[in-house]
Amino acid sequence: MKLLDGKAVAQKILGEVAGGVRDLRARTGVTPTLAVVLVGDFAASKIYIANKKRAADGVGIASRDFIYPDGLSRPALSTLLESLNADPAVHGILLQLPLPAGFDEDAAIAAIGPEKDVDGFHPQNLGRLLAGSPTVLPCTPAGCLEILDHYGAELSGAEAVVVGRSRIVGKPLAQLLLARNATVTVCHTRTRDLAAHTRRADVLCVAAGRPGVITGPMVKAGAWVVDVGINRLETGKLVGDVDFDSASQRAGAITPVPGGVGPMTIAMLLRNTLAAARRQLRA
Ligand code: NAD
Repeated sequence: MKLLDGKAVAQKILGEVAGGVRDLRARTGVTPTLAVVLVGDFAASKIYIANKKRAADGVGIASRDFIYPDGLSRPALSTLLESLNADPAVHGILLQLPLPAGFDEDAAIAAIGPEKDVDGFHPQNLGRLLAGSPTVLPCTPAGCLEILDHYGAELSGAEAVVVGRSRIVGKPLAQLLLARNATVTVCHTRTRDLAAHTRRADVLCVAAGRPGVITGPMVKAGAWVVDVGINRLETGKLVGDVDFDSASQRAGAITPVPGGVGPMTIAMLLRNTLAAARRQLRA
């Protein structure tokens, strides 16, 4: 069984991004800049943002904070996003989700300029992905593909099963696998016999947010298993959606949690930010 070391692959990508940032600065004098917007007082969001900002700093990407722990009115958020869209010194806008109750997340995402949407969630960017001509890929699905590619998974013609159909992970991940000529099945809470599908998977990607939803007997011998889940147990332990101990007995290759997809997501975000800056500067 091969352990798919997302941390190591992410380090490699962060090194490439750092080189790209230095090159862009040398050619244009501009530092790629990410605006980080957080509305509300969410403990997990604060940790995610701190990690993203630290990683941005590490590759030379500047970040600017727009943090409103006490909330913000909907019109004020619209005005903020409009001003960031119009600011040539800001190249990417990270709107940390969730937003507090009462906000329309779809409307807020759609209010970000598609060229500054470094998460790849804007409907225009998701539409381009569906149309087969993406400019920016959602970070977590792109990170999954990057790990599989790094370790040489054969996707063309493979049976790929994605567990989960969220807009940020499952659906775009299925599209990316389809674009690579896998035969893709998407499973969700209404799927009748989950194990019947997962047992056929040469490539099994799991993004359900349910610890232990996939166990060893549900994995095809030799399969590539990518565990997107991040779940904090009552004991404080961080686990994925896949029962690692039993699944790793059957899988040919598997990502750990932590140290698998998580670090890749941040690396992809920073790669997207550099790419957005390059496009905006036409450099
Ligand atoms: P979500 O709750 O929006 O979607 C979960 C999906 O899983 C739904 O489509 C649901 O139908 C499906 N599902 C739930 N239980 C199921 C079951 N028993 N059988 C089959 N399908 C089931 O979650 P999300 O935002 O897509 O995130 C999924 C997981 O990935 C979470 O644990 C989240 O924390 C994690 N995540 C990790 C990263 C990362 O960087 N590694 C990024 C985003 C999300």
